[in-house]
Amino acid sequence: MPSSPSPKATEDRVYTELYEAICERQLLPDTKLGEALLADHFGVSRTIIRQVLQRLAGDGLVRQEPHRGAFVARITLAEARQIYAAWRLVEATIIREVTPTMTSAQLQALRNLIAQERQACEQADYPLLTRLSSQFHMALAALSQNKYLGQFLRELIPLTALAYFYDVKNMPLCRKDEHSQILDCIEAGEAEQAVAIAEQHLDGIEAALDASASLDPQISLVDRLRLRQPSLSP
Ligand SMILES: [Zn+2]
Repeated sequence: MPSSPSPKATEDRVYTELYEAICERQLLPDTKLGEALLADHFGVSRTIIRQVLQRLAGDGLVRQEPHRGAFVARITLAEARQIYAAWRLVEATIIREVTPTMTSAQLQALRNLIAQERQACEQADYPLLTRLSSQFHMALAALSQNKYLGQFLRELIPLTALAYFYDVKNMPLCRKDEHSQILDCIEAGEAEQAVAIAEQHLDGIEAALDASASLDPQISLVDRLRLRQPSLSP
């Protein structure tokens, strides 16, 4: 018999599941995150669920309201635009910094991530694509020698999942393969060209924000969690 996972490992698993479900926009802003429901769904104690919700609140992804419980956080369209404005600036600085020092192993790791994105595009798996596209930018940020810049983007980018609302199918992610174009320019040492494409790319995503899009409130929290394929084995 395999030994049962430690409470910390169990907490990490549930945290990762919920974190990814929010970043994939499977759990939409304002979804109520009921402790009892989640404890039941994941087969863990409510104590673990409370700890996980606390961590997600620390990430800015969950909002805790006195006497009402926890909800997936939401940001306004204006806040989403501010995030993209900040992201564009930091992205440009990171690209300029990493272009001269990028190793072939680092390039290969980023190309592998893009290959997974292509596969998600082909399979029309838009939730997965949403998460992988963010991961591309966070992986690029992680290569920065300035750990604060990397940390800043790793905190900032997941928050874009909380904006109402994106038309992922019509984003330029699949059609133009801009991540590959950015990486090609970095590989060729053309930092300014890479910055220009990255700015266009983020402009395109920002333009896909649609304040008038409505959400589908019919699907319950548990159904939404069941619909997504867990990325980690328990
Ligand atoms: Zn991107």
